[in-house]
Amino acid sequence: MRIEDLDLGERWPAKLVANTRLTPPEAREEVRELLFETEDAECDFRAGQSVAVSVAGPHEFGQDEHVRLYTVARTAAELGPGRFSLCVRRCSFLDPYSGERFPGIASNYLCDLKDGSELSLAGPVGLPFLIPSDPHTPLLIVGLGTGIAPFRAMLHELYEKRDWQGRVMLLHGARTGLETIYSGDVAEISERASGFSPVSVVSPRPAWDDPEDLSAAILKHRDEVWQLLNEPEVHVYIAGLMRVGEQFDAALAEAAGGAEAWGARKEELKSTGRWMSLLY
Ligand SMILES: Cc1cc2nc3c(=O)[nH]c(=O)nc-3n(C[C@H](O)[C@H](O)[C@H](O)COP(=O)(O)OP(=O)(O)OC[C@H]3O[C@@H](n4cnc5c(N)ncnc54)[C@H](O)[C@@H]3O)c2cc1C
Repeated sequence: MRIEDLDLGERWPAKLVANTRLTPPEAREEVRELLFETEDAECDFRAGQSVAVSVAGPHEFGQDEHVRLYTVARTAAELGPGRFSLCVRRCSFLDPYSGERFPGIASNYLCDLKDGSELSLAGPVGLPFLIPSDPHTPLLIVGLGTGIAPFRAMLHELYEKRDWQGRVMLLHGARTGLETIYSGDVAEISERASGFSPVSVVSPRPAWDDPEDLSAAILKHRDEVWQLLNEPEVHVYIAGLMRVGEQFDAALAEAAGGAEAWGARKEELKSTGRWMSLLY
């Protein structure tokens, strides 16, 4: 999805109520949850939708504003009318020529915002992740890093509002356990919901800066994952960085005995509306 191609619609004002660090100070990654409040009816977000944040320029490359999208992690269904939260990873990038590290504009702007700040947002952007009406439907959910954000809202819907009975497998994680966000919420659900099975995905070599290893986690649970994916009514949800989608396809091709077999099953899921992804 190209931001330039999106019709962001009207801007609406929102106030930052709280800006809380989710990862502990000793973790290398900084991920924060920002709780917002607005009087605008537009903010009736659903799991899977995003909000557009604009940082006024001028910026280094001459743009008047710098717009980035962030997925809603908690919605008004949990926080009350007019409230929603985003979870934001502080980004920086390495200039390959100078070797200097530069801060990402929007993520650093958000991570540094003080409580009470007023800003102008746009959205909702994107289609919500649809939850099937039959609460016995099996679900496979993949949300690594900040890709867990839409599933924070979705798990609330499944277990607080709908008493979900179907099997739910959640693959979640980050480079290390310390950087895995919402793991407390996930553990709490797994204690009381019998059909819910979380699988933690971390890096095999965290000290080397390697990312989480989704392929290894899928191959470790290969029979379970493949069996779930072949349930006639299964719904699949995947969110996070592009490479998570690529790793998922590669591991599933191996589990299925070839890229063609996995491609055919994926196409079936897509064409029947049972495949929902949000990769960036
Ligand atoms: C639908 C959607 C949902 C998303 N949801 C979330 C979410 O829930 N949480 C979250 O944290 N993120 C999310 N993102 C990612 C987020 O939108 C931003 O892309 C991210 O925060 C980085 O933005 P930034 O402005 O901080 O960095 P930017 O300033 O845009 O920099 C980002 C990248 O641009 C490149 N770059 C920029 N300037 C230069 C330069 N001078 N030289 C070389 N390279 C450069 C680098 O590769 C750098 O890594 C989502 C994205 C999409 C599309």
